[in-house]
Amino acid sequence: MSSEREPVPHFIRNIIEDDLKSGKHQTIVTRFPPEPNGYLHVGHAKSICLNFGLALDFNGKCNLRFDDTNPEKESEEYARSIQDDVRWLGFQWDGEVRWASDYFDALYAYAVELIKAGKAYVCDLTPDEMREYRGTLTAPGKNSPYRERSVAENLDLFARMKNGEFPDGSKVLRARIDMASPNINLRDPAIYRIRRAHHIRTGDQWCIYPMYDYTHCISDALEGITHSLCTLEFEDHRPLYDWVLDNITIPCHPRQYEFSRLELQYTITSKRKLNQLVTEKRVSGWDDPRMPTIAGMRRRGYTPAGIREFARRIGISKSDNVIDMAVLEGCIREDMETSVPRVMAVVKPLKVVLTNFVAGETQSREAGFHPNHPEFGSREVPIAREIWIESDDFSETPPPGWQRLIPGGEVRLRYSYVIKCDEVIKDAAGNVVELRCSLDAETLGKNPQGRKVKGVIHWVSAEHALAAEIRLYDRLFTVARPDSDKERDFHEFLNPESLAVVQGWVETCVRDAAPETCYQFERLGYFCTDRREHRPGDKLVFNRTVTLKDTWAKESV
Ligand code: ATP
Ligand code: MG
Repeated sequence: MSSEREPVPHFIRNIIEDDLKSGKHQTIVTRFPPEPNGYLHVGHAKSICLNFGLALDFNGKCNLRFDDTNPEKESEEYARSIQDDVRWLGFQWDGEVRWASDYFDALYAYAVELIKAGKAYVCDLTPDEMREYRGTLTAPGKNSPYRERSVAENLDLFARMKNGEFPDGSKVLRARIDMASPNINLRDPAIYRIRRAHHIRTGDQWCIYPMYDYTHCISDALEGITHSLCTLEFEDHRPLYDWVLDNITIPCHPRQYEFSRLELQYTITSKRKLNQLVTEKRVSGWDDPRMPTIAGMRRRGYTPAGIREFARRIGISKSDNVIDMAVLEGCIREDMETSVPRVMAVVKPLKVVLTNFVAGETQSREAGFHPNHPEFGSREVPIAREIWIESDDFSETPPPGWQRLIPGGEVRLRYSYVIKCDEVIKDAAGNVVELRCSLDAETLGKNPQGRKVKGVIHWVSAEHALAAEIRLYDRLFTVARPDSDKERDFHEFLNPESLAVVQGWVETCVRDAAPETCYQFERLGYFCTDRREHRPGDKLVFNRTVTLKDTWAKESV
C-alpha cells in the first residue's frame, strides 16, 4: 500500500483548526450518517474519507450513525454492507454503531417539550392541502387552520398519534415557525408522521416516526458532534437544524457545514437510481464491478488506499465536484503499480508452436513478481513446445512502428527466448489460427548476435497455463453525465458493451490466490480474482480492474 500523502487544506479543515486554536472545542467529533436504504457509492466514500479522515488527523472521534427513520426502505442487509464498506475503506467508528432509532424516546420527549412551549402542533391537513398551504418560492404560505390548537389539545392528540388511534397519514406534528418565511423549510415543517411500518430495530413498537431534519440535528447534539458535515443540498435546511436546537433544552449545538457532492463522470451517484439498476437486473447486483458502489469497486479490485487518495485529490469545496473517471482510475493504477505482483496472462489467445522445441520437454526460468520489489518473491515461468500469445501481438499487415510479431519477423518472449515466425496457419475462412515459430537458443537472457529485436511480448505455456474466465469491464454509461439530461432517462445511456467475458490463460502461480487478490497482467492491466460466489463451477475468474498505460516499451527483457 502506498503511504498516505499530506492532507489537502480546505475550508472545513480551516474552520476546525480555528476552533481548536481559539479553544471553542478541545477536540472534534464528526459523524457519518447514512440511511441504510442501499449500498454506499463513491460519493459516500468522499464523505467517509472526510469525516473519518478529519477525526484521525485531529485526534478526534467519528461516529457511524444510521439515519433509520424511513422503515419501509431500510434493511439489515444494507446496514451490514455499510459497516463492511467503512471498515474496508480503512476506518473505524468510535464505540458502538449508533442508530437514530436509539433516540426515539428522547426525540418524542423533545417534541412534547416543543408542544408545551407552543412551538409544535398537530395538523390534520391532507397532503394536498398541505402543499397548497405551503405556498411557493415566490408566494408566502398561509397558516393551517389547526395552527392555533391549544397546548392541551396538541399534547393529547400527539399522545394518541403515538398510541395508534389515528390512521396512517391522517395527522402530522408540525413545528410552529413561520408560514411566510422565504425559506420553505421553515414553513411549519412536519416533524412527525404516522406510519405503521415494521422497523428493522424497533419492530412494531412505534407507529409514528420523526422526520429526517428533526431527527438529524437532535441526534448530532445528543452525540456531542462538533462539526456536522453534509452535502450542499442541506444548506437551506440549516436554519431548521438551528431552530430545533435553539428551541429545546439541549446543552449542545453542533454546527452544520456543507460541501459539494461528488459526481463522477460516466456513472451515477444516486442510491435510488443505482437501486433501480439492481432491481431491474441491468447489473448483476449492488456489487457488480461496473457499479460505482464501494462493494462494486472492491470486487473490481479498486484498493482502499487508491480510493482514499482519490478523495484527497478531488478535495472539499462548495463548487461543483464533477470528476473525470480518469482521476479515479489514475489513483487506483498508481497504488497498484507498486503494490501488486506481476504475472503473465493471455486474454485473446493465439496458439504458437515452437517447431524446434522438443515435444514433451519443459524448461523454465525464474522471474521476479515485481521489478522494484524483490521482496515480493519470484516464480518459475515454464516453457514447452506450445504456447499462447496475444492475438493482438501478431499482424500480417502491421501499422507503422509495429514492434510485435509479423510473418518472418522476430520478437522476444518476456523472460524467455527470441522467436521467429516461420509460418502462418489459417482456417478455411482465412483467420489466423496458429503460428509456427522457431526459437533462437542463444537468446536466453542475452541479445541475439548481430541484430536488434526490439519487441517483447507476453505469453504462457499452453500445457502449464490455467484456464480462466476474464471479465473485461468498460464504462457503465456511454455519456459523461447520464443523469443530467432533462429529456432523456439515464437508462438510455447504459453502455451495452460494458462487460465482455473472454476465456483466457494465466500462469499457474495464481492458482491458489485468495479472493480479491490483485495482479498486474503484464501489458494488459490490473486484474482481481473474484469471490467464490461469483465463480461459476468454481472456475478461476478475474475481473479487470483498470487497463495499463502502455509503458512496456521502456522495460527491459
Ligand atoms: P443518495 O442521494 O445517493 O441517496 P444520500 O445523501 O441520500 O445519497 P445518505 O445515506 O443520506 O445518502 O448519505 C450519507 C452521507 O453521505 C450524507 O452526509 C451525504 O451528504 C453524503 N453523501 C451522499 N452522496 C454524496 C456524494 N455524492 N458526495 C459526497 N457526499 C455524499
Ligand atoms: Mg439522504
